[in-house]
Amino acid sequence: MAAGIVLVTGGSRGIGAAACLAAADLGHTVAVNYVHNKAAADAVVTDIEARGGSAFAIQGDVQSEADVLAIFSACDDQGTLVGLVNNAGVVDNPQRVDEMSLDRLTRMFAINLIGSFLCAREAVKRMSTKHGGTGGAIVNLGSAGSKLGSPKQYVDYAASKGAIDTMTVGLALEVADEGIRVNAVRPGIIDTEIHASGGLPDRVAQLESKLPMKRAGSAGEVAKAIKWLLSDEASYTTGAILDVSGGRAILP
Ligand code: NAP
Repeated sequence: MAAGIVLVTGGSRGIGAAACLAAADLGHTVAVNYVHNKAAADAVVTDIEARGGSAFAIQGDVQSEADVLAIFSACDDQGTLVGLVNNAGVVDNPQRVDEMSLDRLTRMFAINLIGSFLCAREAVKRMSTKHGGTGGAIVNLGSAGSKLGSPKQYVDYAASKGAIDTMTVGLALEVADEGIRVNAVRPGIIDTEIHASGGLPDRVAQLESKLPMKRAGSAGEVAKAIKWLLSDEASYTTGAILDVSGGRAILP
């Protein structure tokens, strides 16, 4: 794949930030999307530039179609899109399904699922040979929760990630002969700020001893898998869902 623009949604922090560095290491110009934290996105851009790479920060909420269109338009201004990492995602405070409000469910599915669909749609319009593009790669962020179901915590989140698994397979087959590979990584417990944002700042420490490797993963470890799936090294890999979970939930 020739170097071009790789968009990482939610690239300002956590796994997304590590994925931005990885995409830059592949020689791409990285569009570092964020929704609120401009300082964090700017810091990722500075990191990439300090390593001799190229990047720009772009604000936008992936659940807003207008924002998604603006994000992709900003990418078009910088060059040819060759990759998308559908990483932006949220959790919520632990609740049973019988407690969940419509607002909560709407936000969860709008960001984690519809946002990923909107971004995939715009990426395919640009990268598909059917639309005059030159091909590319999409990497979706799933979760081990799609197999565990996350009872008494966030079944809604797990279900949104189950749909990401399905979208990965369906879209991969839809565009397999149009120059686009579509894959997913399915992280386990990764040490990022997402757990605190769901009201569980100690989640990693509490779970570590129960994990197969007795430790959480790092954002960088997930980014290595994303980097491989983005790269030509994975040229015959599409529709794959790669568990990067330290063995958590590897059985169905
Ligand atoms: P994180 O540390 O909480 O970072 C979330 C990122 O997403 C931030 O860059 C945030 O931007 C951005 N974001 C949030 N809502 C957005 C929206 N509506 N539009 C655009 N960007 C948005 O999360 P993480 O742990 O790195 O998780 C990244 C992905 O991996 C998610 O899809 C998550 O579900 C998945 N995952 C994580 C784990 C884990 O244990 N960490 C496990 C399995 C799967 P701002 O900085 O502007 O807020």
